[in-house]
Amino acid sequence: MGQEFVGIDVGTATIKAGVVDEKNRVFETLDPPTPTTAAKFNEIVLKTLKIIGAHHKITAVGVGLPGLYDYKSQENLHVANLKYDLEELKEKSPLPIFFGNDADMALLGELELRPEIKKENVALLTIGTGVGGAFTINGKMPYELNLAGEVGHMKIMAGGRECSCGQKGCLQAYAGGRAIEKEAEEKYGKKLSAKQIFELAREGDKKARDIVYEMSEALGVGIANLVNILGVTRVILAGKISKSADLIFEFMHESDQNNIFAFKERPYVLEASSGPDEIGIVGAANFAKLKLDKKILP
Ligand SMILES: [Zn+2]
Repeated sequence: MGQEFVGIDVGTATIKAGVVDEKNRVFETLDPPTPTTAAKFNEIVLKTLKIIGAHHKITAVGVGLPGLYDYKSQENLHVANLKYDLEELKEKSPLPIFFGNDADMALLGELELRPEIKKENVALLTIGTGVGGAFTINGKMPYELNLAGEVGHMKIMAGGRECSCGQKGCLQAYAGGRAIEKEAEEKYGKKLSAKQIFELAREGDKKARDIVYEMSEALGVGIANLVNILGVTRVILAGKISKSADLIFEFMHESDQNNIFAFKERPYVLEASSGPDEIGIVGAANFAKLKLDKKILP
């Protein structure tokens, strides 16, 4: 039997974990809620490893973290809600454990599941509570590009809406789940989830359709910037909201194409992830394998 790794994808609401085999099949998945303290986070990760590792001989663990992860200093430089104690986790982990940025891991997972697109310049946007992102360029993987790829904080409107990062006009403040929910509260005068808004939009509700239209238009501008600046040839939407990608593509109403310089001369592919629930886990597990085999330094 081949080697097995554990991949862990830390989201805003849950920590998704699973065992990944050599064929990138995912087993023994668990998704405990994401805690709010570092001590509790470490406790949950260790407990998760114990549970899902009980029937498997695990070689190493990879963890995708939200925030700005520095692969050189191996620290998470900026996190929105939880300051991690990765040193303590490393000490207490019974297995070698490696960390990376969550969107980088998701893109790595997508490429592992679809090796045929590995040679392209690919950007992946994870749309959940916020907007994460990663890209490959001329064969360089996102972890080799280190701090690059903060796609959610690209500015699409000077002095625009406030973002959770403290700045203004970020893509995330227009296209993230939290932004959709904030708009919904203003329009409906009550709390509705992003999922509910998409459902209402599908049913033809005018206010919900306006919200999804605005979100999709902003996303189109962000995607056009990626194509213009990086020359990406493929953009993949992942994350919870990518399950409504069909609606987003319909509502984008060419805002991507209208903003891509010389669009006709450089068409690109826009699509939904092949496995939005598992790419984060698959990518983190493969990252651990690459780290262990010393194919990624340091
Ligand atoms: Zn921001």
